[in-house]
Amino acid sequence: GNAADTLLADYNDIESVKKLVYANKNNVAAIIIEPIAGNMGVVKADESFLVELRNLCNEENIVLIFDEVMTGFRVAAGGAQEILGIKPDLTTFGKIIGGGLPVGAFGGKKEIMQMVAPAGPVYQAGTLSGNPLAMAAGYAALSYIKEHPEIYVQLEKSSMYLENGFKENLKAIGKNYAMNRVGSMMCMFFTEEPVNDFKSAVKSDTTLYGKYFHEMLKRGIYLAPAQFEALFVSTAHTKEDLDKTIEAHREALKVIG
Ligand SMILES: *Cc1c(COP(=O)(O)O)cnc(C)c1O
Repeated sequence: GNAADTLLADYNDIESVKKLVYANKNNVAAIIIEPIAGNMGVVKADESFLVELRNLCNEENIVLIFDEVMTGFRVAAGGAQEILGIKPDLTTFGKIIGGGLPVGAFGGKKEIMQMVAPAGPVYQAGTLSGNPLAMAAGYAALSYIKEHPEIYVQLEKSSMYLENGFKENLKAIGKNYAMNRVGSMMCMFFTEEPVNDFKSAVKSDTTLYGKYFHEMLKRGIYLAPAQFEALFVSTAHTKEDLDKTIEAHREALKVIG
């Protein structure tokens, strides 16, 4: 039912959003988007696209939801909305907010949150909602992040180091594969055309990605087993880890040709 009630617009294409919204005038409740997509590889929304999306939602009385399950606390302490400067009406979180334990969360404007029980009529509960162990882990992780803003500087440095290493490897073999990175989220697409939406992302040669994945695995680097996932650099990655990854990347590229 939810799928049947969902309309799909093209990423970074405000006209495609407007077309759907106007064709379904007063019938679109919410628009949900990953402001930095991590589920078609890494693709950042253009700032102008997000500004127009925000304006459209204001004009048409549509709730704008940012899915920051991946980007929340990763690209910045305040998530993608902090670095992009766009305020959604609701935000969803997961992953980092649980400090490694399973938890999801959402929050946003008071007038919307007051609709949720016990303040309002919308019942929202679960067996493990507010699970003390997950809350403690999340609290510890978020407290650490708050007390150590320098981790974002370190993450940017490590991620840029990895990106530059990959780019040098590509240059050495005369390839110009699209490399998208925002902070510690990164993705190399096996296409030489720029990737800024799903259409361009699927131009990537996934058979080649499969070969690349296995060559990396042979060298001790376990990537996500699909082209359309992100690489996440963490503070646990040492310079040796990054160098090992860059070297594996260089050799893997050589082998797959
Ligand atoms: C993992 C993920 C989800 C799903 O989160 P769950 O906590 O598994 O429901 C949603 N959106 C994005 C962007 C994700 O990365």
